[in-house]
Amino acid sequence: MTHCREEHSFIPESDLDGMSVDTLAVRAGQLRTAQLEHSDPIFATSSFVYGSAAQAAARFAGDEPGNIYSRFTNPTVQAFEGRIAALEGAERAVATASGMAAILATCMAHLQSGDHVICSRGVFGTTNVLFQKYMAGFGVTTSFASPTELDEWRSAITPQTRMLFLETPTNPLGDVADIEALADLAHRADALLVVDNCFCTPVLQRPLELGADIVVHSATKYLDGQGRCVGGVVVGPDRLLEEVFGFMRSAGPTMSPFNAWTFLKGLETLPIRMRAHCDNALELAKWLQQQEVIDQVYYSGLPDHPQHELAKRQQSGFGGVLSFTVKGGREQAWAFIDATRMISITANLGDVKTTITHPATTTHGRLSPEDKLQAGISDNLIRVSVGIEAIDDIKYDLGRGLAALATQD
Ligand SMILES: *Cc1c(COP(=O)(O)O)cnc(C)c1O
Repeated sequence: MTHCREEHSFIPESDLDGMSVDTLAVRAGQLRTAQLEHSDPIFATSSFVYGSAAQAAARFAGDEPGNIYSRFTNPTVQAFEGRIAALEGAERAVATASGMAAILATCMAHLQSGDHVICSRGVFGTTNVLFQKYMAGFGVTTSFASPTELDEWRSAITPQTRMLFLETPTNPLGDVADIEALADLAHRADALLVVDNCFCTPVLQRPLELGADIVVHSATKYLDGQGRCVGGVVVGPDRLLEEVFGFMRSAGPTMSPFNAWTFLKGLETLPIRMRAHCDNALELAKWLQQQEVIDQVYYSGLPDHPQHELAKRQQSGFGGVLSFTVKGGREQAWAFIDATRMISITANLGDVKTTITHPATTTHGRLSPEDKLQAGISDNLIRVSVGIEAIDDIKYDLGRGLAALATQD
């Protein structure tokens, strides 16, 4: 056993130059130890040892690269970071304990008291709370703008604006924001555009190529894809990620090696899963549109969706989440949901299993009635995260919901 040698190595990225997302999802960032194992190893260790006191000193001084402590670097977590960076076409990624920790780390690294943020109205509910409550508590103010109305963003800009934050397509109505136009607006104002790319994943949308500065993810959703772990990641250029890494090192909302390993396994099937989600969701959306008891279907893959053309240009698929309104109100929506048998009633999304939820009383339950109205979260709205089960079986189960409403009159 030698002391001063690295006992593991990452397969060189240059070997994968020019390869497609399908390949990068399986191969990028791959880690191998001297045992030459085929599946990535889990480095279940909090700290690392040195060959000598001099080497320890060199590592701490930053003169020699290498691991010190798993709050800031761990080889399994680095393997996950390397793979996500490759998929998003970025220089660097920093993994976090959750999607919210990724958003928090981005804010803490790039905002300070006195700064102003413009946030899309169509963001994850907890993101809204983070800005409105916690960022506000540290003197960062936030204005909100419609994801589809460029003018609202333009007129919200102040000399203090340092960040524009959005999610596209939005949850649950699938509004699509124009990343290129908003990046341009942000840069003219000397602000950063941060995009939460959770719903599309890099398989369907690569915001950095469209001009975004930073991408954040909840890895909890599609990146894992099988509902096993909570995690997140921040992706972007070195010059912006160095401070995110610095915050993570100092504050510590770190991803565990076990979770990183689980996400690595999830990423291997991400491209084929995303294609299956997209195919099933599109077919389901068209089928739901034909049903008597359904009022309106919201899915950017439908030609009558207001941002269908933009979605086609900006994304390579329309994603796996759709929503629809049933004729009636909350009672009818709940009756529809309760009639399903196979589909899981849960607010989680991005899973290979189809899930169904009533946004007005779950994910968006904390909004005031006025905010719900403005966000289009009506009592008869149902969201489905379409899984990869056979489409005929998904239809069959939702058919039970349709039948429950048809017999109500
Ligand atoms: C779930 C989610 C988050 C938060 O991620 P966690 O991993 O639950 O912290 C952020 N953004 C979007 C779009 C989400 O769906």
